[in-house]
Amino acid sequence: MTYLDHAATSPLRPEALEAMLPFLKDSFGNPSSAHPLGMAAREAVEAARAQVAALVGADAAEVIFTSGATEANNLAIRGVTRSHAVTTNIEHPSVAATFEALTKRGLALTVVAARPDGVVKAEDILAAVRPETTLVSVMRVNNELGTIQPVEAIAAGLRAMKSRALFHTDAVQSPASLETNMKALGADLLSLSAHKLGGPKGVGALVIRKGVILAPIVTGGGQERGVRSGTENVAGIVGFGTAANLVVHISSVREKFDMLQKALDTALAGSGTGAKRLLPVGTPVASHIAALEVPGADADFLVLLLGREGVMVSAGSACHAGNRDASKILLTIGLSEKRARGVIRVSFGPETKTNDIESFAAALRKVLPKALA
Ligand code: PMP
Repeated sequence: MTYLDHAATSPLRPEALEAMLPFLKDSFGNPSSAHPLGMAAREAVEAARAQVAALVGADAAEVIFTSGATEANNLAIRGVTRSHAVTTNIEHPSVAATFEALTKRGLALTVVAARPDGVVKAEDILAAVRPETTLVSVMRVNNELGTIQPVEAIAAGLRAMKSRALFHTDAVQSPASLETNMKALGADLLSLSAHKLGGPKGVGALVIRKGVILAPIVTGGGQERGVRSGTENVAGIVGFGTAANLVVHISSVREKFDMLQKALDTALAGSGTGAKRLLPVGTPVASHIAALEVPGADADFLVLLLGREGVMVSAGSACHAGNRDASKILLTIGLSEKRARGVIRVSFGPETKTNDIESFAAALRKVLPKALA
């Protein structure tokens, strides 16, 4: 199998699985229980909290575990947004649809358009900020295009203009190949997801800068400092912490991704398929993601055919399961419907090798004639 879909999800790291197993077996205590079994679970959750905090240079007390980044984004947005907010037109649906829902309850929302290269301009965001703006939300790395957004410049601009708006960044796709330091980015709120980093699905975190107060969206027994009630997903959290810890120690992976990107260019050039990079040379992109345009192809069909050859990639984004419309993000940056339907995304992980790229190019060459629309 050739797995080139790490931006959709990543395989669970064996170390994460090992660390999780005891909490799915004998060490089944509730972290809120005062007996030794409960205390062991509590200790494990707190150790994982420190590991996730270290990944983004935050304090452990700033990390709130959630059921994933979808919930973290909901918590950030619903927890602080009042009157007016600013976001972009290339956000993940967990951000876009949440804002959209709030506009039905009277929120004024300014959606700033990314430029045709899939990058928003910091000055466009800052120009949209009003005195009554409560939240600005801009993702760090776009999941379909891999484009890196100017998060630091936006945060610095907000500080310079003494805005009272909080700044949230959906950083889900960032730590896989970029330094992701909460303070360096200048974020007040930052969303993470374990399963994009070699952790399990169904667990994530919202990192909330000390001093930021937000209203919980899940109320109940007061776990996670009352910000996110519900008995903790102990095994999931432990797996997340272990995976986060391994990310911190694999900075060399970035060099490898750059090498894989070069191998991809070479393989595509020699494939005779006409497949090429969607974004212009020089666009700031995260090195584990590549959006490719396969002119004339039906990307959905292409993904299916490649899958039959054992090669796993995505058409646009895998987050809209079953949705066969052209990607909204691609239309939004100005692609025609026809071009948007011919875009696939390949994404790498720490285990990806040059022969995976070669297998992909060979499979593409083989199946493409069938996928030409
Ligand atoms: N934001 C981005 C940028 C994503 O890529 C994803 C996952 N596709 C999410 C949020 C949602 O994360 P989760 O699957 O943990 O809910």
